[in-house]
Amino acid sequence: MKPDRPDLLVLGAGPAGGTAALFAARIGRRVALLTGPAGGSLIAGAAEIDNYPGLPRLAGHDFLATLARQCQDAGVELAARTARRFTVENRYKIIEDDTGTSWTAPAVVIAVGTSPLPPDIPGLDRYWGKGISFCAWCDGQLFRGRRVAVYGGGNTAFTSVTILARLAAEAHLLLPKRIGTAFGSLRDEVKRASNVRIWPGVKVEAVMGDTALRALTLRQDQEITTLEVDGLFITLGQRPNTGFLQGSLDLTAGGFIRADAAGRTDLPGVFAAGDVVDGSFRQLVVACGAGATAALSAERYLLQQW
Ligand SMILES: Cc1cc2nc3c(=O)[nH]c(=O)nc-3n(C[C@H](O)[C@H](O)[C@H](O)COP(=O)(O)OP(=O)(O)OC[C@H]3O[C@@H](n4cnc5c(N)ncnc54)[C@H](O)[C@@H]3O)c2cc1C
Repeated sequence: MKPDRPDLLVLGAGPAGGTAALFAARIGRRVALLTGPAGGSLIAGAAEIDNYPGLPRLAGHDFLATLARQCQDAGVELAARTARRFTVENRYKIIEDDTGTSWTAPAVVIAVGTSPLPPDIPGLDRYWGKGISFCAWCDGQLFRGRRVAVYGGGNTAFTSVTILARLAAEAHLLLPKRIGTAFGSLRDEVKRASNVRIWPGVKVEAVMGDTALRALTLRQDQEITTLEVDGLFITLGQRPNTGFLQGSLDLTAGGFIRADAAGRTDLPGVFAAGDVVDGSFRQLVVACGAGATAALSAERYLLQQW
């Protein structure tokens, strides 16, 4: 149900948006939460979360279901809608959703997250969760003593392969370009690991397996190689879900939202939290903390400026 006049609109029902909505509702605000596409939160892909303090070994979808229930119990109105347009009129923030309905409130928290950049590799869809993952922190443990590859060349790729080298028997770093773009210290650490092989300028052309991933076809210059692995971690970057904000908010060239430590954007009454914020550490506990911060900043704004 659409509340007549929410005090706060929250976009995104991931850890950041869910926490923002919960905090605002718990201090007596009327909150409407537009959840976005079903399964849109990255944490839904975590088979087991084991780095959230106080909540050991929790599946990502259980975390989200519990958070949604907490929001409902606190009086948040959850709507399965996706924001398509954002405007400001007479200081009111107006969101048009995917059904054409407009939502208006004096303040908004934008927590729409990111989507991993999937490479165009034939067969990839068959092995998500069966050897292929976006997250070494989350799924690295599954490959203890086995063979893994990381596809990417930035800080996340180098950090991932460092983590995996400690767990796996052998780790391969597949650099899409001739050199990696990670910080020097991360590159040095990878060079020191005795069980990491670096493949410069390589393209993953295909993935193969049966009930799980078994091998990759690699192209390096004109040479084709079959690399047998049990795991492939794809770290080719993230794309923020901010297409609908282009032109209305201060975004980086890559589309991430610029916000300060209190979650404030360049527009008064517009706050941002979680992975969608430029420079954010993309981790669950960080997203939850940022959501709470944005909600409390929004509360301060509503008290002082409305
Ligand atoms: C496979 C995997 C496993 C992970 N495991 C861990 C882990 O174990 N521990 C850890 O600390 N971190 C983990 N992470 C990272 C963690 O998932 C993210 O840091 C966290 O989910 C970010 O929360 P968020 O709320 O900012 O964004 P998300 O969780 O991505 O949520 C974004 C929300 O916005 C919604 N949305 C998108 N577009 C719109 C729109 N236009 N309008 C309205 N809503 C919209 C989506 O539907 C979703 O509800 C993992 C990531 C991946 C990919």
